[in-house]
Amino acid sequence: MPAEKTLAIVLRTIPFGETSSVVTVFCREVGKLRALAKGAWRPKSRFDGGLDLISISQVLVLRRSTGGLDLLTEASLESRFRVGGSLTAALGGLHVAELLDALTADADPQPELFDVAHATVRRLSDWRGDEAPLPAILLRCELAMLRLVGHAPEASRCAECGGPLGDGGRFAFGMLEGGSLCPGCRGGRRGVVSISARALDAIRAGVAPQSPTIPLPARAITEARTVITTYIAHLLGKPTRVAARLRPAARRRTR
Ligand SMILES: [Zn+2]
Repeated sequence: MPAEKTLAIVLRTIPFGETSSVVTVFCREVGKLRALAKGAWRPKSRFDGGLDLISISQVLVLRRSTGGLDLLTEASLESRFRVGGSLTAALGGLHVAELLDALTADADPQPELFDVAHATVRRLSDWRGDEAPLPAILLRCELAMLRLVGHAPEASRCAECGGPLGDGGRFAFGMLEGGSLCPGCRGGRRGVVSISARALDAIRAGVAPQSPTIPLPARAITEARTVITTYIAHLLGKPTRVAARLRPAARRRTR
């Protein structure tokens, strides 16, 4: 049985028997795994704190070559996710973990995706003070994750015909097409919402790899998050469990 030692984010733990757990971890080098952690709930187990939800831990996994659950034999805590003074930041951490689980297949290593989630979770942990930067942090993480799993929303041209979007203060964003639509393509489609030019700018900036942070009005970030939350729900077939509580209040603008 080959053993792998890797940094991992704990996405889910389900009790198994009296003292064990089936743990879903996203490992930097191995991707997502479901593994049995025997005796995880015993007092003074070898996993001491290393299997807490959204913890970052060094894990040792014995891989089964013939299917079935892998075995997680060690988890040493690198950093625990702490609920600081912000419920939004704590829910944001859960949202990132859930997205990581929902957007990935088992045993598909994606180190860059791990790094994005890791950095965001570390940032959200023990958040104190002003919550104003949180929507931008979450939007950036969501868009980077979508890009890395091949579902980056299109925000520069028409997602359907590839043509220019035209000018104007507002544009159409098709949930099924996965991005902005030109005036010629938007008619008669389902799942199309209106989006402002600034919110589309926010999406475009977040999708571009290593783009500098462009200062955008909070309203544009909020609007972009509303659209991306809906897009993710379309993509996954359902919203993440905490999405509704993270979702900015819907603001309808008629113009
Ligand atoms: Zn078009």
